[in-house]
Amino acid sequence: MSSRYSAILHEIHTEILPLQHHGTVAQYIPELAKIDPNKFGMHLRTIEGNDFSVGNNEELFSIQSISKVFALAYTVSLVGETIFERVGVEPSGSSFNSLVQLEYEKGIPRNPLINAGAMVLCDVLIDKLREPKDDMLAFVRKLSGNSGITFNERVAASEKEFGFRNVAMAYFLKSFGNIHHNVDEVLDLYFHICSIEMSCKDLAASFLLFANHGKIVSTGESILNKSQTKRLNAIMQLCGFYDEAGEFSFTVGLPGKSGVGGGIVALHPHRYTVATWGPRLNAKGNSVMGMKALELLTTKLGSSIF
Ligand code: GLU
Repeated sequence: MSSRYSAILHEIHTEILPLQHHGTVAQYIPELAKIDPNKFGMHLRTIEGNDFSVGNNEELFSIQSISKVFALAYTVSLVGETIFERVGVEPSGSSFNSLVQLEYEKGIPRNPLINAGAMVLCDVLIDKLREPKDDMLAFVRKLSGNSGITFNERVAASEKEFGFRNVAMAYFLKSFGNIHHNVDEVLDLYFHICSIEMSCKDLAASFLLFANHGKIVSTGESILNKSQTKRLNAIMQLCGFYDEAGEFSFTVGLPGKSGVGGGIVALHPHRYTVATWGPRLNAKGNSVMGMKALELLTTKLGSSIF
């Protein structure tokens, strides 16, 4: 099997090359627009701990919305399912930063993987943690096994400066009573979490938790129970790809999460995790090369979760 993973990743790398110039890098956070658009990396880690990779798999990039999965896992590990009294578990069917839906659903975000949902998670984390930013970093470092993971302060500052819609959203949530802490504090944590930099290798390592019943494979430490892990995977499957979660299920068939930094990470429970990075995005905000690479992966392996 090992040599098969390696051969398949190399085939994929060749087959996606024609897409190299398709799509555009996210522009709305000026600091993100500076990235070299032509990068591509892919990293697969098996549940046994074997690694396979191609391209820029160890290069750091801004994980952006992928961080929402870490925030959710941390929140559930601290407060359990009570978080779902303040955030729903349904696909939103609208954009990740929509204000409209929040208005008619009275300040309860559709799910934790859209911006409004992640802001509520940040509010809970501020409540429960002594040093929310440091503790969040420590959590991600623990899951990935990489103690060097950190925030990109320039990206966080760039979002703070230009993230007017996110600021509006946080105040809107507060007006419904679904943010308890100071809005600036919540946004500071939210923007920092989005600015975390990781590589495909780091993401594949950290998401192994969700492929392993909520236990860190390398240490055996239990972060989530089996039922919580199932729920998180279900949320990723239904809500992990903006307005394209259906398309991702349809073509790839794995739970996962994407971010506007061009990263995607997905997992096959009990088998492997896989992360891709290609900064050019399609119209829905997902990496063009990443989507295709993952479609090719499950097609060539002949297995998805369905
Ligand atoms: N920090 C970004 C925002 O809030 C996250 C976007 C994303 O990756 O979906 O707009």
